[in-house]
Amino acid sequence: MGLRIHNTYSGMVEEFIPSGQKKDKIGDYPPVTIYSCGPTVYGYAHIGNFRTFIFNDLLRRYLKFRGYRVDHAMNITDVDDKTINGSLSEGLSLRDYTDRYIKIFFEDLDSLNIEKAEHTPRATESIDEMVDIIRRLDEKGIVYTKDGSQYFSISKFENYGRLSRLDSREIKTGLRYDTDEYEKDDVRDFVLWKAAKENEPSWDTPYGAGRPGWHIECSAMVRGVFGGTIDIHTGGVDLIFPHHENEIAQSEGAYGEPFVRYWIHVEHLLVDGAKMSKSKGNFYTLRDLLDKGYSPRAIRYLLIASHYRKQLNFTLEGLRTAENALARIDNFLVRLGDIKKEGEADPAVKTLSDEFNEHFTEIMDDDLNVSGGIGAFFEYLHSLNSLIDEGRMSLAAAARVKEALQRVDSVFGFIFFSGTEDDIDVTRIESLIAQRQEARKAKDFARADEIRDILIAEGIFLEDTRDGVRWKVKK
Ligand SMILES: [Zn+2]
Repeated sequence: MGLRIHNTYSGMVEEFIPSGQKKDKIGDYPPVTIYSCGPTVYGYAHIGNFRTFIFNDLLRRYLKFRGYRVDHAMNITDVDDKTINGSLSEGLSLRDYTDRYIKIFFEDLDSLNIEKAEHTPRATESIDEMVDIIRRLDEKGIVYTKDGSQYFSISKFENYGRLSRLDSREIKTGLRYDTDEYEKDDVRDFVLWKAAKENEPSWDTPYGAGRPGWHIECSAMVRGVFGGTIDIHTGGVDLIFPHHENEIAQSEGAYGEPFVRYWIHVEHLLVDGAKMSKSKGNFYTLRDLLDKGYSPRAIRYLLIASHYRKQLNFTLEGLRTAENALARIDNFLVRLGDIKKEGEADPAVKTLSDEFNEHFTEIMDDDLNVSGGIGAFFEYLHSLNSLIDEGRMSLAAAARVKEALQRVDSVFGFIFFSGTEDDIDVTRIESLIAQRQEARKAKDFARADEIRDILIAEGIFLEDTRDGVRWKVKK
């Protein structure tokens, strides 16, 4: 049996067949097309966001582990009420303001060892695709205008509500509906294009000057990057309704073909058993946790380790448990590195490694059961430790084990973690950074640049932010 994934659209775990046409060999499939709803760039992303982004990473890494090729897009929402208000209150252009948070976002992904998607389109660069969708919907009579804004008329789209399985009465009574504050004919309808307002950025289009509604951005970027039906669309469960429901309505309404084959939704993250909120004091950005001294590696471990369809209760205690699990891995790596024994590899090592690989694949094929996969991994380490205890691990065998670890780490991304080597002298780096700040204050830019170059040569990259200088290690 191959990979099976839970599809929100059918409500069932289904065999995964990219492109909709079954092939004999995985290598024969065209690249798996994946679209993930990305961040709105108005501030630091919080760990609930990162749970979803780390799941996306697990998904694409596991697909590659299984031999699929991957073509992944994650959008950047760089225009909406929050980004506009943020840029206005700081007196920056929308572009400068969102550029800052896009940069921070990518740094955060990097520190969590999240692979970069092949495409990261920005909403503000996808206006033509949005206009194309509105025009097609308009030609089919699905769009109406009110106060200069364009709305999608849900009563004209038959399949509305299929993904979220809300019956139309539930949607109609306004129990759950899009909270866009604009006037509309029907409470369920949603805005496609918002008429320009004073002091707000706007784009000139055949539908007047204005800016996009949120939902159309994703439909437009899916079309812009992939052209037609895609294999997988991911996002948090909170996006199923109305956002993803509306994406389906727009895309299928406009192009008359299926939008997405597999919808994958990641459950909520709770903190200390409750919904994260600033007022409760249980709200963490990634940087809050790093500032408290937790390692990005432990954060990655904790966020990746539970199944994506289960709620994850995030606690600081959980992070400490993650650190302990990682210490077990590191201890094993040290033991492996200390092996000096010459001679042929004990056949038991190959058998164990092959069995682990098979078992791991079987477990992960079942809807990406990562907690089971991690369990199997620790059992494998346990057996290897016993072999070392018995003096049966030779250099040749250790090399084979390392290969097996590298292979499974192409999925986990927390075994060999860049930036965790302890040969980095933090005190010295911080002292050099302080010297560089002094040099800059004294307008001795030559010296400041010199220090920067010394650090770069050692793989230490500096970044000047509003909160001071940050640094990180790149290999
Ligand atoms: Zn989206």
